[in-house]
Amino acid sequence: MQARLGVGRGVAVSPGQGTGEVAAGHFGPEHIALVDEALYVAEHSCADYFKLSAGGWKALRFELGTGSALGPAEQSRRALAKLARYEARAWAPGAASHLWRICLQDGPVLAVARRDDLALLGLLTYVLTHELVHIVRFHRFEQLFDADPRHRPREEALVHRLTHDILRPLHASLGLAPVLERYRDMGQAPGLGRCWT
Ligand SMILES: [Zn+2]
Repeated sequence: MQARLGVGRGVAVSPGQGTGEVAAGHFGPEHIALVDEALYVAEHSCADYFKLSAGGWKALRFELGTGSALGPAEQSRRALAKLARYEARAWAPGAASHLWRICLQDGPVLAVARRDDLALLGLLTYVLTHELVHIVRFHRFEQLFDADPRHRPREEALVHRLTHDILRPLHASLGLAPVLERYRDMGQAPGLGRCWT
């Protein structure tokens, strides 16, 4: 599936435990091609893991936004991605009436890849898989989007663990191994993630 560039508020992947200042920057065409590739891998990996059919996956209703397509409330100078939820007209009786928007943050993603010497494709694949896991869990009401902030660190830790489980079979490709190592502890210590903004 192509990355549907549009935009994004809500859940975010933190840049990790580094102390370096996250710098500004924007994706160029070469980066957007990697975003498309990462989204393709993330979508197929999540659909397989959660055993979702093509129809089940389509029912999730999400889109991806980057850079200048992001509105002010959808931007972050520190998070790698944020997840926004918008009300949407149901596409079929009984269908979900929410549209999820993954708001990928160009500057922080580029800066963290550079700071931590991570392959951009691997980092993008991790971030997008993480956000898709959130969407699946919200869609299934396994987690409430408007959950009490006190419960969010535990959910973030779980989402990191699921992201690792999903991507572990691919660790030898896409530059993923260093990314999985970088975010390994996020799944074990609630509170480190700070993903939810
Ligand atoms: Zn998260």
